[in-house]
Amino acid sequence: MNAPTPAPRKVPCPTCGKPSLYAPSNPWRPFCSERCRSADLGAWASESYRVASPPATQDGDDEPQDPT
Ligand SMILES: [Zn+2]
Repeated sequence: MNAPTPAPRKVPCPTCGKPSLYAPSNPWRPFCSERCRSADLGAWASESYRVASPPATQDGDDEPQDPT
C-alpha cells in the first residue's frame, strides 16, 4: 500500500477568487495573501459590528424604587 502523499490543494480565494494554495506553507489559507485575509476579516467585523449595534434610544426606564 502506498502512503497517501499530501498533494497541495488549490482553493479559490474567498476574497478575490484567485486560486490559492491550501497547504501549511500558506499561512493565509484559504486566502491567497495576507491582504485578502485581512480584507475579509475587516468586512466580517464591520458587518458584525453593525448588526450588534444596540437601539439608539429606549424610553420607559422606570425601575420600582422603595420609598424611604
Ligand atoms: Zn485573494
